[in-house]
Amino acid sequence: MAHASSVLIGTHLNPDGDALGSALAVSHYLDSRGIRNEVLCHHPAPRNLRFLPGVGRIRQMPVEEKHDLGIIVDLDSTERLGDTAEYFRGCQRLIVIDHHIPHEKPGDVRIIDVSSAATAAILTRLLRTAGAKFTPDISTCLLTGIVTDTGSFRYRNTNPEALSAASFLLEHGGDINLVSEEIFQRKPLSSQRLLGHVLETMHLELDGQIAWSAVSLADFDWAQAKDEDTEGFVNELLFIESVRIATLFREPKPGKIRASLRSRGTLDVAAVARVFGGGGHKNAAGCTFDGSMEEAQQAVVKELKKCLASS
Ligand code: 5GP
Ligand code: MN
Repeated sequence: MAHASSVLIGTHLNPDGDALGSALAVSHYLDSRGIRNEVLCHHPAPRNLRFLPGVGRIRQMPVEEKHDLGIIVDLDSTERLGDTAEYFRGCQRLIVIDHHIPHEKPGDVRIIDVSSAATAAILTRLLRTAGAKFTPDISTCLLTGIVTDTGSFRYRNTNPEALSAASFLLEHGGDINLVSEEIFQRKPLSSQRLLGHVLETMHLELDGQIAWSAVSLADFDWAQAKDEDTEGFVNELLFIESVRIATLFREPKPGKIRASLRSRGTLDVAAVARVFGGGGHKNAAGCTFDGSMEEAQQAVVKELKKCLASS
C-alpha cells in the first residue's frame, strides 16, 4: 500500500464498529505516510459511531475520479459494498482485508483470517509489521473494531490475539472508556422503548430454544426509532437461558426485511443466512428479503428449526 499514490478505502453497508474503525484506521495510516486517500461507505456512520476519530471523512461517493489502489475491509461479498461498488471497479488493484467466512473472493490480494475476532485485529498486526506509528486516533479506531466484534470481550471469538492487540492499542492511546460508553452505554430513549416492545412480543419455539421477534414499520413509527436503534436487540433475545438461536426481523423501509441471526456454540447461523443469499459468521449472520414480513419470518424460522434439528 505504501507505493500507491491514491487509495480508495471501502467497507460494507450497514457499517458496524469494525467496518468503520478499520476503514478509518487505514485512512489515518495512509495520511501518516502522505498517501492521498478517501473513505467510502454506502451508509453514513450510525449515531453510536460518530465519535470515531476522522468520521467526517466518510463519504458515499468519491471526490477524485481515479485511484490506483482500492482497500476494502471487513467485507465478504462485493454486493455488500452497495452503491460504492462501482467506484472500486475503476481501481487498478484491490486489496481485501477481512475475517468473515469467504462468500465470494473479490480482490487481487486477499488477507483473510477467519480465526481473527475482528478485521481491526488483523490490521493491528499488519500495521505493526509495517512499522506504523500508532497514534491515539488509529488506536481508538482499531480498538473500536475489536471491542465491537467481541462484544467487549464477551463473545466466543475473544482470543489471545484480540486481547493482546487491545492491550497494545491501549498502550498507544486508544480510549477504551470512550469506545465502551459511546457504543454500549448511551442509547436513545426511543431505542430502549423499542427494545421493551421487542422483548414483550417475542416468539419462542421448540421449548424456548429459538427466540424471534420483529420490528415492523409501524413499530419504528410508534417508537420514533431508526433501524440503527435496533443494534444489539437480537443479542438480548439470545441471552435468555433456554435460547440457542435468536433472530430479529426488521422492516426499516416498506417491503425491505432485514433479519439478524445469532446462535450459541456450534450452531451455524451463517449457513442459514446463506440459504437466503446472506452470510456472516457462524454465531452472527444476517440476510435481506424483498417482500412481506410474514413470508420472511416463516421461511427463516423453518430453516432455524432445521438447523437445530441437525445439531
Ligand atoms: P448484523 O445482524 O449485525 O447485521 O450482522 C451480523 C453479521 O452478519 C455481520 O458480520 C455481517 O457482516 C453479516 N451480515 C449481515 N447481513 C448480511 C448480508 O446480507 N450478507 C452477508 N454476506 N453478510 C451479512
Ligand atoms: Mn468485523
